Amino acid sequence: MLPETPATTPTTDDVLHLLRGKRLTALTGAGISTDSGIPDYRGPDSPPRNPMTYQQFVGDEAFRRHYWARNHVGWQRVHRTHPNGGHKALVRLEERGILEGIITQNVDLLHEDAGSRNVIDLHGRYDRVICLSCARVVSREHLADRLTELNPHFLESIGDLEDVETAPDADAVIESTAHFVPAACEFCGGMLKPEIVYFGENVPRERVERAYAMVDAADALLVAGSSLTVMSGLRFVKHAVKTDKPVVIVNRGATRGDPLATIKLEAGVSETLEELADRL
Ligand SMILES: [Zn+2]
Repeated sequence: MLPETPATTPTTDDVLHLLRGKRLTALTGAGISTDSGIPDYRGPDSPPRNPMTYQQFVGDEAFRRHYWARNHVGWQRVHRTHPNGGHKALVRLEERGILEGIITQNVDLLHEDAGSRNVIDLHGRYDRVICLSCARVVSREHLADRLTELNPHFLESIGDLEDVETAPDADAVIESTAHFVPAACEFCGGMLKPEIVYFGENVPRERVERAYAMVDAADALLVAGSSLTVMSGLRFVKHAVKTDKPVVIVNRGATRGDPLATIKLEAGVSETLEELADRL
C-alpha cells in the first residue's frame, strides 16, 4: 500500500490567508504551555501517564493523601512559571480587536498572567480549592499555608523542587507520601478538592454555554496546542464546523479534530502564534 501523502502541506501563509480580516476565538491546550516549562502529558515526547479520575479522588482516602502530598510539592513549582511568547501573542491579538477571547483547557492561569482579558478556564484553575460538602471556595495559597502547618518538614524532605517532575495539574511525582496529612474544610470539615475538572467530571453547564457563545461571537476558531483528546474541547470544533466557521488547528502531532479542520498546521505553537500576531 502506498503511504498517504497530502497534495500540499499547509503553511503559515495559508493560515494567514484564511484568517485575515476575521475575528477569532482561540481554544488552547497543554501545548501552549510547554514553552513555559509545564510538560504536556499527552504530547508526542511525554511519558505515558494515567490521569487521576474524580472517582479515585473521592473514593479512596490513601489515594487522596498521596494526591495532596504530590500537589503540595507541584503547586510550588507551577506557581513560579511564566507566560511565553504564545500567550503574549494572543494578548496582542486581543488588544488589536482580532481575538474575541480564549477558551483554555489549561488550569495554569498563564493566559491571565500574560494579560489576556476574556478567558474561559474550561477545566478550572489551579489556584482555587472547593469544599465538596459546603461548596465554599478558598485560595490554593491559603491551603498551602495550612498544609505546611500540618506537615512542617515535608517540603524540606523532598529536596530541590526543580528536580521534581510536574504535570499540568501541579501533580508532582514523588515517592513517599504515606505520612502526609491532608487538610479538611476549615468551615465544615468536608472534603477539599482542587477547583479543577477531572476525568469523570463534567464541565459546569454555565461555563460550557459561555464557551459556545464565545465561538459564536467569532468568525473562525483557532485551536492551539491541544490534541483534542477529550470531548470537552472537541465539541467546540464540532460546533464551529456545524455553524460553517473555518477551523485552524496548530499542533505538533495528530489531533482528534484533524478530520474537521479547514487547515491543520504541524508547527510549534509559540512561534506560529507570534507570526500570526505579527502578520494578521
Ligand atoms: Zn466545607
